[in-house]
Amino acid sequence: MHEGSIAAALVQSVLEVREKEALGTVKLVTVCIGRLHHVVPELLQSAYRLLKKEHGPLARSRLAIEILAVRIACRACGRETVIEKPEFACSACGSTQIDVIGGREMHLKEVIGVRRKA
Ligand SMILES: [Zn+2]
Repeated sequence: MHEGSIAAALVQSVLEVREKEALGTVKLVTVCIGRLHHVVPELLQSAYRLLKKEHGPLARSRLAIEILAVRIACRACGRETVIEKPEFACSACGSTQIDVIGGREMHLKEVIGVRRKA
């Protein structure tokens, strides 16, 4: 399952951030995922819910998912637009000579937790 492997990678990144920032309990995790990954937020949520239980400090964290639009740059008119449908044409002039410039990204935006006591 696509969302299962994304959730596993996500948990790994959160654990790394947690170490780096010396956090104790993680409360909120925000991830940004480009629409081209075709992630179903509900499936990612349930995969995350299952996985987080295996990691104590994450067990009570909440996951927020931000889906990023597919953005393209038109080679004909130079404008950058967002496309809603899987029709890869410039929204400004209709040209199909375009470069996809957004929608494939996936990154951890934020991890909020309680700082460990020194
Ligand atoms: Zn154009």
